[in-house]
Amino acid sequence: MSKSTPEATSLAAEVLAKYQPVIGLEVHVQLLTRTKIFCGCATRFGDPPNTNVCPVCLGLPGTLPVLNKRAVEMAMRASLALNCTVHEHSRFARKNYFYPDLPKGYQISQYELPLATSGWLEVEVSGVKKRIGITRLHLEEDAAKNLHEGFSQSATKAYVDYNRCGTPLSEIVSEPDMRTPEEAYAYLTTLRQILLYTGVSDCNMEEGSLRCDANVSVRPRGSKEFGTKVEVKNLNSFRYLQKALEYEIERHISVLESGGRLSQETRLWNQAEGHTVSMRSKEKAHDYRYFPEPDLLPVHVSAAWRDEVLRTLPELPEAKRSRFVSSYGLSKDEATVLTDTQQYADFFEAVLRNGADPKQTAAWMQRLSYLAEQTVEAVKIVADRFGNVAANHFAEMIGLVANGKITAMNARTVLAEMYETGKSPADIIAARGFEQISDTSRIEQAAREIIAKEPANVAKFKAGNEGVFKFFVGQVMKATRGQANPQAVNDILRKLLAQAN
Ligand code: ADP
Ligand code: ZN
Ligand code: MG
Repeated sequence: MSKSTPEATSLAAEVLAKYQPVIGLEVHVQLLTRTKIFCGCATRFGDPPNTNVCPVCLGLPGTLPVLNKRAVEMAMRASLALNCTVHEHSRFARKNYFYPDLPKGYQISQYELPLATSGWLEVEVSGVKKRIGITRLHLEEDAAKNLHEGFSQSATKAYVDYNRCGTPLSEIVSEPDMRTPEEAYAYLTTLRQILLYTGVSDCNMEEGSLRCDANVSVRPRGSKEFGTKVEVKNLNSFRYLQKALEYEIERHISVLESGGRLSQETRLWNQAEGHTVSMRSKEKAHDYRYFPEPDLLPVHVSAAWRDEVLRTLPELPEAKRSRFVSSYGLSKDEATVLTDTQQYADFFEAVLRNGADPKQTAAWMQRLSYLAEQTVEAVKIVADRFGNVAANHFAEMIGLVANGKITAMNARTVLAEMYETGKSPADIIAARGFEQISDTSRIEQAAREIIAKEPANVAKFKAGNEGVFKFFVGQVMKATRGQANPQAVNDILRKLLAQAN
């Protein structure tokens, strides 16, 4: 088969339906430690190139690695949250290859004896739950970053930034258990959520702290054997993962349908062109001449250490979701939104501790999120979701609406000001004169004046035009600066319009 990329095909649905895709993901996450895995250099992102380096991470002769205990602990947290068996003994190995971003000429990784194996996580796609197996989770060091663009001589030179070299990573390998691009997408988002909850990684795809390679093959439906797989790299967003898989599945099927054979290879996703291109034929494990790392002792995880790490795990997203449904009477959708991040869920429960009603809090938190979306850059929403709003102020505001002290409409304005300034709702309401008017005589007076001014509309209403009623409500609300109790306005207008002639 030629290496050229077949044109994007549009196969008939019956043809696509003859095949079943098989997908397995390999995910690399940067562990949230302050220092690198085998030396004391900082792992901070964005520092000037080659400022966080030392003889160890530059691979100078005569230096020795020292394992960062915190990195092992982070990888243990991830393993336990993913239902893996953490092994008492694991071992580092050297994976040998040459590249300028790898100054030692080998990467220290775990191979035959990884830290953890045989876990799973549960995904949900279109209401159907499914377990995806996790083959292994191991520790390794990251390589440096080759820079090809973004500097003055980039036409003729390539630079290497060794700051990233030696950053602790965990590689998490899934079983080939996924059958659709949607399942792969769900796996990656679920995995990310668990890693964020457990504080293992910040999972920032733009900064490279979460990277995903996708393995994909297709087989005739009903067949027991797997087809030839291709590994797709360069998937630096969740959307790209799904798009690349969709593309690759169609490509495999069209190759097979036209009587061709697939070759096992590594391909790159090209987002601009919307297709994958062949990068190299797949390397084999023996090409790397793995052998045990002689400079490091085997990793020993005692049962006591493992149990201690297990005890410090937070309530995980799935458990929190179920608890929110059963203890607060929320719908599954509400619970899913509220448990999106640990911080969001914590804020919700803090508001409830201040006496607010769960359903009303869920609804108002949604409004708060919209506000955040309009106010801050999309990428900062998660961090800035509550702006300056304190949980007790938020509960107070929800109570004021529930008790009819302010209208829901004015409450939105109050909320926006709380978001900006952190002031209490009581102060904002007093300063803006937002107390709701429930005094019926004031509402009645406004309604009478408007009815008197609008004989034509009164006539329309009398003739059965119900739409005009909304016009009258709007006019009364306007005359009372949005402060009138909407139910009272309705009742009074009904009464007065019935009397009008
Ligand atoms: P390799 O030796 O090529 O690295 P592995 O067996 O280690 O292959 O698997 C790497 C990844 O590929 C795993 O996530 C696994 O689930 C997935 N995988 C293995 N075989 C297939 C296949 N036939 N189709 C799709 N994915 C596969
Ligand atoms: Zn260093
Ligand atoms: Mg492998």
